[in-house]
Amino acid sequence: MDIKKNLEFINLQIEDAKKRVGRTDEVLLLAVTKTVDYELIDKAISLGINDIGENKPQELVKRMNHYGDKLNYHQIGSLQTNKVKYLYKNTKLIHSLDRLSLAKEINKRAKRDDLIVDCLVQVNVSKEETKSGIYLEDLEEMIEKFLEFPHIKIRGLMTMAPYTDDEKILRNVFGKTYNAARSIEQNNYENLTMEFLSMGMTHDYQIAVEEGANIVRVGTAIFGERDYSKKI
Ligand SMILES: *Cc1c(COP(=O)(O)O)cnc(C)c1O
Repeated sequence: MDIKKNLEFINLQIEDAKKRVGRTDEVLLLAVTKTVDYELIDKAISLGINDIGENKPQELVKRMNHYGDKLNYHQIGSLQTNKVKYLYKNTKLIHSLDRLSLAKEINKRAKRDDLIVDCLVQVNVSKEETKSGIYLEDLEEMIEKFLEFPHIKIRGLMTMAPYTDDEKILRNVFGKTYNAARSIEQNNYENLTMEFLSMGMTHDYQIAVEEGANIVRVGTAIFGERDYSKKI
């Protein structure tokens, strides 16, 4: 796996996508390290990767134990309430805040340590049953409930598009998420920003950037196909 070539290619694609829509702001390339060997992750780090993401909390904790405060850690997959205790302290951003019970648990833990935990609210635009996340029509109401937890700071939205080559569907999902963020922003809530939009993976990150993503979560395009039989 030529990590260097892959990262150069992705960074170029991101820059091109930004140019196509006239963007000059930063896009964070979040390296998704599910099942990836340390040798390859080390290589990515040596080439400038500072942020890594895992979808399983226990795997993220393993990465934290391995790399310590050298990296920023992102919880990108659904988070069971009973796993919050392992990662709320050291996670840079939880991308998958999707229900009240989770908000309550994060807030409870963070309160004891007098911490504020940064979270993105996960939205499910396409209403696929296999995906978690809040439906757009419920978003404002849910966000107002989340705002009752002072040890959580909402800093944007996360979404996953359906796996499809249909550009129209992808643009619709990402565009609607972008618009939802702009609309929530209009309410000028305290203790909330809409500065991050975490959207786009290997298959669709260029389109996500064109539609306003400023965090892309990319695994396969950096590290190659995953082998889920591997243990980290
Ligand atoms: C695995 C995963 C990614 C990265 O997927 P690739 O297609 O390998 O880039 C992004 N986001 C989430 C939530 C994931 O679980």
